[in-house]
Amino acid sequence: MKKITIAIDGHSSCGKSTMAKDLARELGYIYIDSGAMYRAVTLYSLRKGFFTPEGIDTQSLQADMPNIHISFRLNPESQRPMTYLNGENVEEAIRTMEVSSRVSPIAALGFVREALVKQQQEMGKAKGIVMDGRDIGTVVFPDAELKIFVTASAEIRARRRYEELKAKGQEAPYEEILANVKERDYIDQNREVSPLRKADDAILLDNSEMSIPEQKQWLMEKYQAVVHG
Ligand code: C5P
Repeated sequence: MKKITIAIDGHSSCGKSTMAKDLARELGYIYIDSGAMYRAVTLYSLRKGFFTPEGIDTQSLQADMPNIHISFRLNPESQRPMTYLNGENVEEAIRTMEVSSRVSPIAALGFVREALVKQQQEMGKAKGIVMDGRDIGTVVFPDAELKIFVTASAEIRARRRYEELKAKGQEAPYEEILANVKERDYIDQNREVSPLRKADDAILLDNSEMSIPEQKQWLMEKYQAVVHG
C-alpha cells in the first residue's frame, strides 16, 4: 500500500493529537506532534530566563537555537511518543499551564518557525507520517495527500482541556483555560508568520458534537478515499 503524508491542523485543544495518534498507530505511520516542539522551545526559554518583564529575549533565544535538540521516542510501556529536549523526557513539563500560556508568542517568532519547520520536513521525507499542528497543510507539507482542519467551539475545547488537566492532577480553573484557549486562537490566527488558517484543499471537521470513535471512523473513511481513490 502506498504511503502518504497526512496533515492535521486546527485550533488548540480540539482533539487533533488524539485523532492523529490513533490514525498513525492504526496505519503503522510515524506520528509527530509539532506543537510539542514549540512547547519544548518555550520550556527551554522559561528555564533559561528568556521571558523578561520587557518581553522575550529573542537575541539570546536565536543564538541558542542550535543548542535546542528536540526528538521523540516511544514509551515502551504505553507505546506513546514522548518528547525529549536535549535528551531529557519533557513530555509532562511541556503540558503545564505555564508553558501553554507562553507558547504562542514563541511560535510567532520567524526564526523559531524556520528552524522547526526544517526539522519537521526532514522527519516527513519518507512519507508514512501523520503530523498535527497549525501550519502543516499550509507550510510544512503543502503537498500532503490528506489534509484535515479540525475545530470545535472554544467552550467545548476548554472543557476538554480542563478534564485532561484534571485527570493528570493539574487542575486549573475552567475560566483560565477558556481565556488561554481564546488567546492562543487569537495569536495563532493573527501572527505575521504562517498564521493558522485552513489550507484551501483541507477537509473541515467540526467535532464539537462528535465522540472519539465517530471521529476515528470519519478520519479512516477520508484516508481510505485517498489511498483507494
Ligand atoms: O498543538 P498545541 O496546542 O500543543 O501547540 C501549542 C502551540 O504551539 C499552539 O498554540 C501554537 O501557538 C503553536 N504551534 C504552531 N505551529 C504548529 C504547532 C503548534 O504555531 N505547527
